[in-house]
Amino acid sequence: MSRRNNSSRRGRRRGRDRSEAQSKIAGSVQLTCVRCGKNIRNPQMALATPENEPIHFDCAIQEVAEAENLGAREKICYLGQGSFGIIKFKSGSSNRDFSIRKRIPYEKAEQSVSWRKEMREKLDFGR
Ligand SMILES: [Zn+2]
Repeated sequence: MSRRNNSSRRGRRRGRDRSEAQSKIAGSVQLTCVRCGKNIRNPQMALATPENEPIHFDCAIQEVAEAENLGAREKICYLGQGSFGIIKFKSGSSNRDFSIRKRIPYEKAEQSVSWRKEMREKLDFGR
């Protein structure tokens, strides 16, 4: 995951204040996971379902894994940009040796996720 905004690390004197403010803002965005029904504590890490509902990152992985027939040595991984993939590890080798068997687009388009946009706007405010 490389969703984190780089600028959040750049602050010097006010760096600590800023990260506190950020977590407050993130906490003010109330999201409920569409799959497990629990509160999403880290909206920055949440994904959007194809129906644009917020979902825990882990819940999304589980959902994709259940929808796919995973073979032995296969695993769902996040590939970035709203896509998952089925990773197939080669037998008898280290976990570094793998190929992507299938790409699974999950989020439609990041821009269309209204709650994420709202959160980003709040984070950008007062920079
Ligand atoms: Zn969940």
